[in-house]
Amino acid sequence: MGEIKMKKRYPRPQFTQGTINRFGQSRIGGGVQVLNSNARILQPGEVAPRHQPSSQHFSQDNLGLNSARLRAVMVERLRQEGISDERVLQALNQVPRHHFVDEGLASHAYENAALPIGFQQTISQPWIVARMIALVCSEQIPHKVLEIGAGCGYQAAVLAQLIPQVYAIERIRGLYELAIQNIQHAPHAERIHLHYGDGLQGLPQYAPFPAIIVAAAGIELPRSLLRQLSVGGRLVAPLGQDEQHLVLIERTGMDSWSQQLLEPVRFVPLRQGTQP
Ligand code: SAH
Repeated sequence: MGEIKMKKRYPRPQFTQGTINRFGQSRIGGGVQVLNSNARILQPGEVAPRHQPSSQHFSQDNLGLNSARLRAVMVERLRQEGISDERVLQALNQVPRHHFVDEGLASHAYENAALPIGFQQTISQPWIVARMIALVCSEQIPHKVLEIGAGCGYQAAVLAQLIPQVYAIERIRGLYELAIQNIQHAPHAERIHLHYGDGLQGLPQYAPFPAIIVAAAGIELPRSLLRQLSVGGRLVAPLGQDEQHLVLIERTGMDSWSQQLLEPVRFVPLRQGTQP
């Protein structure tokens, strides 16, 4: 990333409320706290939004009846927390997030929180999903996108509501298989091409991509991946280890990229290789 020049064009967002996560335990294991979830992090002195725990018992079956209403509430909360791109909000409104989490957590699916999906991984917080998609769609909606770290497939499903060709890679076979099942619950599933493999290699056979979203945090991104971005294309990724920030990279020419540092976040790590 040596040639990348820092460029701070946009002001820091005002909406820096973080999230707290109450889901220390899940029957699918892998406790999730803000330390290992895909979420914004709370700034010193900021107040976390209060989640309204539901008193009703939901299962994935009966949640279907309520989910449209709960999703609308989730979307309204994202709007209040600074997500202003109506196309992106509409995309989140179309995907039944409760089908992407373990049945035991379905009643929490529409809270603005990361949740465990097994294999010590998490489904990203809706706010962060919306934020990353808005960043790659702000100039124009790309015709194709690559997502690295498909997890349970939720973000790929949201992307498919906006973008005709969604390529997504997952390195853990169990999650890749879970994502294949889950995406069937979303409209436009046929737009999603899921791959099992190491996302750090990208998908050179389908490159270049006008948009790339990385859903796990690394210290740096391989040059070969940056080269799979179209000239003029945008890549958004969490970068860092103990301290992570969202970064927006634009390919400005054949051999030049610019990078903007955005808000602090906390993501699961980007790892090399695959896990059978
Ligand atoms: N996009 C997901 C978030 C999944 S969490 C969502 O919609 O909620 C991040 C995922 O990145 C994990 O499933 C993890 O296994 C995966 N991951 C980490 N390193 C990777 C790599 N090199 N290639 C592909 N996937 C990777």
